[in-house]
Amino acid sequence: MFRCARAFSTSPLFKYAAMTCRQYSFQVFRDVPPLRQMRRQLLLDRKTVGFVPTMGALHEGHLSLIRQAATENTDVFVSIFVNPTQFGVNEDLSSYPRTWDSDVAKLEELNDEFARLGGDTGRISAILAPTPKVMYPTLPPSSEVDGDGSFVTITPLSRKLEGASRPVFFRGVATVCMKLFNIVQADRAYFGQKDVQQTVVIKRLVQDFYINTDIVIGDTVREHDGLAMSSRNVYLGARRRAVGLVIYDALKAAENAYNSGKLARSEILDAANGVASRVLSEQQALSPSERALYEVDYISLADPDTLDEVETIDPSKGAIISGAVKMVPLEESKPGEDCGLGDGKVPVRLIDNLIFKPRP
Ligand code: AMP
Repeated sequence: MFRCARAFSTSPLFKYAAMTCRQYSFQVFRDVPPLRQMRRQLLLDRKTVGFVPTMGALHEGHLSLIRQAATENTDVFVSIFVNPTQFGVNEDLSSYPRTWDSDVAKLEELNDEFARLGGDTGRISAILAPTPKVMYPTLPPSSEVDGDGSFVTITPLSRKLEGASRPVFFRGVATVCMKLFNIVQADRAYFGQKDVQQTVVIKRLVQDFYINTDIVIGDTVREHDGLAMSSRNVYLGARRRAVGLVIYDALKAAENAYNSGKLARSEILDAANGVASRVLSEQQALSPSERALYEVDYISLADPDTLDEVETIDPSKGAIISGAVKMVPLEESKPGEDCGLGDGKVPVRLIDNLIFKPRP
C-alpha cells in the first residue's frame, strides 16, 4: 500500500512537487499553491477544514487531535514540519525524531478507522509536508535571538515559563503557525492542552491578528501511568521514563491540594515541590548505574489567560499548574539496559500541566 510513498520520498521530485499519489487516501503537498487550489475547491463545495499542525513523530496525542478534527469537519489537513525557528541554537533540531514512513502509515490507519465509522466522520484529505525553503522563502530561518527574518512575536506571553529558558521558542511557534494558518485557511485548528502555553500564545495570535480560524484545544493524552505523551519520550529509556513521572506526580499533588480547598500559592506549590525534591533525594541516594537525575526548571501556578503567576487562586477563574523538568543524561548504563534512542545521552525536557477548573 505504501510502496508509492517510499519510492517518492527518496526521489528528488518528492522534495519539490505537490504529490498526488493514488495509493494514499490523502494528498501530500510539499508546496503551497496546489494545496491552496484544493482548499479553494473545498470551500466552493461547502466543505469544512480542520487543521492539525504537528512536527511529526506522531503518537496518540496527535492522533486524538486528528480524531477530534474529523468529528467536527468534513476534511482534515495535517502538517508535518519540524520548524527550525522554534529551536534555539543549542537545542535538539538535528536530533528531533523524524519518522515519515510510520507517520504516514498511522494517518492511513486513521483514515481506515474513519471510513469504518462512516456517516458524519470526516477524512484526512491533505498532508502538508513543506521544506524549510517553502516555509521561509526569502531568508534562511534564523534561531538567533536577534536574527533577521519575518517573525511574529507575542509578548509578554512568550517570555514567561517555557519562554524564559527557550527565548526564541514562541517566536518560532507563532511565526510558523501564522504561516500555516495563512496557507491552510482552516475553519478550525486543533492544539493539545499538553503544551498549555502554546495554546495561550496561539489564541492571542488569532485574536490580535484577526485570523479567521477557531482554535480548539484537545485534552492531554497520557500513558497508562499518567506520563504525558511526547515525541521526545523515545529518548528517555526505561530508567528515565520511570523517574520522569515525577513531573505528573508533582502536579497531581498540587491538584489534590487545590481540590481539598487550598488556594494559597505557597500551599499549592509546596505540595508539588515536596514531591519533586523527595523523588530527587531518593534518586541521589542510589548508585550512578541505578539512578536517573533531573533538574526542575520551573513549577508555576498561573492565571489561565495571562499566565501571570498568582499569589492566591481566584476560585471563579481557576488556575494552571505547569512545570518543566530536564532529565539529564544517564551517568552509567548497565549491560543490555534499555536507555532509549541516543543511548541515554540525550537530555530530555519534559513539560506537563493540569488545569484547576473554576469552582463555585
Ligand atoms: P508537536 O508535534 O509536538 O509540535 O505537537 C503537535 C500538536 O500535538 C500540538 O498541538 C501539541 O500540543 C499536541 N500534542 C503533543 N503531545 C500531546 C499529548 N500528549 N496530548 C495531546 N496533545 C498533544
